[in-house]
Order: sequence, then structure tokens, then C-alpha cells
Amino acid sequence: MAHGLSKSRLMSFRQCPRRLWLERHRPELAEEVPGQDAAFATGHEVGDVARQLYDPAGDGLFIEYDQGLAAAMARTREALAGPSAAPIFEATFERDGLLVRTDVLERGDTGPRLVEVKASTSVKPEHLVDCAIQSWVLESTPARPKSVSLAHVDNRFVYPGDGRYQGLLVEQDLTQETAPLREQVPGWVRSARRVLAGPEPAAAIGTRCWTPYECPFQGHCWRKVDHSVADLPGIGQRLDQLLAEGHYDLRELPEDLVTSPDQRRVWRAAQRGTAELSLAARQELRSYGSPRFFLDFETISFAVPRWAGTRPYQQLPFQWSLHVEDARGRLAHEEFLDLSGELPARAVAESLLEATRGSGPVFMYTAFEKTCLRTLAAFCPDLRDGLEALADRLVDLLPIAKRHYYHPAMRGSWSIKKLLPTIAPELDYAGLGTIREGGAAQQAYAEAIAPGTDAARREEIRRDLLAYCGQDTLAMVTVARYLEGAV
Ligand code: SF4
Repeated sequence: MAHGLSKSRLMSFRQCPRRLWLERHRPELAEEVPGQDAAFATGHEVGDVARQLYDPAGDGLFIEYDQGLAAAMARTREALAGPSAAPIFEATFERDGLLVRTDVLERGDTGPRLVEVKASTSVKPEHLVDCAIQSWVLESTPARPKSVSLAHVDNRFVYPGDGRYQGLLVEQDLTQETAPLREQVPGWVRSARRVLAGPEPAAAIGTRCWTPYECPFQGHCWRKVDHSVADLPGIGQRLDQLLAEGHYDLRELPEDLVTSPDQRRVWRAAQRGTAELSLAARQELRSYGSPRFFLDFETISFAVPRWAGTRPYQQLPFQWSLHVEDARGRLAHEEFLDLSGELPARAVAESLLEATRGSGPVFMYTAFEKTCLRTLAAFCPDLRDGLEALADRLVDLLPIAKRHYYHPAMRGSWSIKKLLPTIAPELDYAGLGTIREGGAAQQAYAEAIAPGTDAARREEIRRDLLAYCGQDTLAMVTVARYLEGAV
């Protein structure tokens, strides 16, 4: 029996034949991929703007899929046969059982032009494959494209406001680059069909499991061990080699295959099963003096900017949490959250400068807070001096933690969410509301400022955002105190 294929299934096959097989035959084994819903939402948002940009007259035709493949193909054929030269969106085609839906099909004097729209900020290798598959299908139809382009987000675009998004997308002509790949498509289709017709194929696990896309079947394919060679920091492509040589459990990996100092620490801790804490941490932390501040921002970044003067994917702070510890170890907490829906830069900057008055180190975890202060200064030039002075007080706690502490349960990561449970399991993020990581905070913020969100839901989000960001700075206090042996 010939198996029907879609472009996305063929892309799955290109990533890993087993992934394709599992998607078709064992979809129930797929696990949720973090951030996938947000990525889809972003893609749709960029797609909506693309339709405005490619159809300024508003007479383009959108091919619905509500009545299935045959109806969508019939509508596409009708549109192509009609007198209009307006663009067609989601035009639907099939060749040898391979289904594609095109983002934009431009027509006119120069002939059909295929434009694939992506929310990314550059052309990636997988985009060439994507375009090649579509153009191979279309070359057998009346819509045979004269050129194939990819339109992606231009992160240098500055939104002027009032819905004017001309310039948000930049096009790259990929006609030449995709030509050699296009010739390979029939072979991919044949191979994919063979895989689908057979039993579950074997496939080597490795970096392919998250490249170019996070595969949802890792729970099925990866054997569960407490310490995997994939935990080695900075292992990169060498992971594939280690796995191919049969190394899987980090505790069984010969020492001479561990190369960098960070990898040696992770390997050593896995062998011993105990944490490493250097006594020099106390001296280093105490050298910064007091009072000491612990700062964390939450930010939002929109692929399609909402506020005039902002750029695509620009990280814009909308919330901060600040714990302040005085010389006697007493702790105070301040916080700010702007759910007005307006550009929050000024409100965030002014409230933060007020809360951090005086002197003393301001600890952050990663250098991200420094970037946020720079962003705030760009939007509030009159506050630049104060924000730069605050940036000069920033101290990154992450490299300090990295120099002085590692626990095998951190599995090769010094992220605060990996570190915290090893020293203060009672501060578990799982005990928070619906927001337990930065991506969820972004989504919640976007929901809170959406016009359709009612007051009760906005209040619930406010509560959860404050709890989440407050937990982040409390976690930093806890880490600092632990490292200096105060707890
Ligand atoms: S987890 Fe890896 S090996 Fe398993 S299907 Fe996905 S990509 Fe293939």
C-alpha cells in the first residue's frame, strides 16, 4: 500500500527514519516538547503579517483545509484557473502522494513565485530542504514556480507603529540552492515509504534527536540512566562519536575520553556520587560586601513587535524581583510587574532605580540582566546614567557557582533550576502555580495583556508571575548563602 506523506512527515524522515515511523505508527509515544506551542503561535503570528504584506490589496485567496485534502486541492485548481492574479495562501498540491501547502504563491507577469515564510531570523539548512520539497511537488503542476524564496524575520527592523510592518520580513532567493536538493526528493519519498511499510527501524540516537528539531520520542529511544554521556557540558557533535562507540553511561566512560575541565568535574562527580564545594566560595562572595541585592527580570519578546520603536525578538523587561540582604542577614523583598499592555520599559526602569538606591553589589544569575539594563537605557535616555551605574554594580553569580560547586544531580548544568534542588529541595519550582520557567512566564504575560483576557484571569497570572520571579531571586539568595556556608 502506498503511504501518503506530507512535507512535515518527509522532514521528520530526513531528521530520523525512526521518527517518521513512530509518528505514523506509535504517535502515543510522543512526549510534549517544551516551547512547541509557543513556537507554533509565533509562526502563526508571522504568517498573518506575511499575508498582509504579500496581499496589500486584500484580494488574495486563502485555501481553507476545513473539508480535507481533496476539497483544498480542488479550490487551489479553481483559483489557478481563474482570472485573478492575486496571491494564493496555503495553496494545496500533491505529487505522487506527497502533500504540500504553500505559504505564499505569488502570480503575475513574471509567473508563479513560491515564498515560504519562517519566523526565524536567518535561512537554516532545513529551510532549503523544506523549499526543495515544495518546489518538487509544484513543478508538476500549473503553478510550477519560476523562483523559490524564503521570507524570514529581519531582526534589524524597527517597528514604526500603527500596524506598519513593511520591512518585518526579508526575502532570500533560494532557487539555485534548492535545485540540487529538489532532485533528491523522489528518492527521499521512496525511502520514507519503505520505512513506513516495514517494522520499527533502528536508529542511532545522538544530536539528531534535537537537530534540527526537538524530537518528541526521546523518552522512547533513550535508555534511562542517572548519568548519561549527553550530560557532559560542551560535548557537541562528539556525543555522536561516543554513542557510536558504545559509551552511554557516564560512570562507565574511560577518563581519557573526558577532555575539558568542566567535563572532568561532571565525570568525577558522577563517579563519586557526591557534590563538590570549594571553601574559597565564602571568601569570594564575602569580598563583595553588603548590603547585597539579588535581581531578576522577566522579559517578553515578540516576533511581530507590538510597541513602536521595538524590534522583532527584542527582550523587553516587564517585571523584576529584588531581594535585599543587609549586613545582619535580614532579608527584604521588592517586586514590580507591569500588566498595562503598554511598553513597560519606563515603568520598569523607574521603579527599579528607586528600589536599588544606595550601594552594594547586585547579584544576577547569567549576564542577561546587564542586557536588560542596556535595553531599558535605550528606551529611557534620561535614566541612562542611573541604569549604567546600576549595571556597574552587577555581579554574575553563575560563574561563581560554577567555579565552586557541582552536584551530580545537576547533570552537567549550572542553571539555577538544576542547582537549587540540590541544596534546597524545599524551594521546588514544582510547588509554584502554572508558571515554572521563563517560557511559561512569557506566554502568561502575553495572555495577561491580550484584550480578551478577563480581570480574574489577569489577576491569577499576576499572582503566578510574582511568585515565579520572586522564587528566582530567593533561589539566588539561597545559592549565595549556601556557597559561603551561611546555611
Ligand atoms: S529520539 Fe532520536 S532516535 Fe528516536 S526517533 Fe527521535 S530522532 Fe530518532
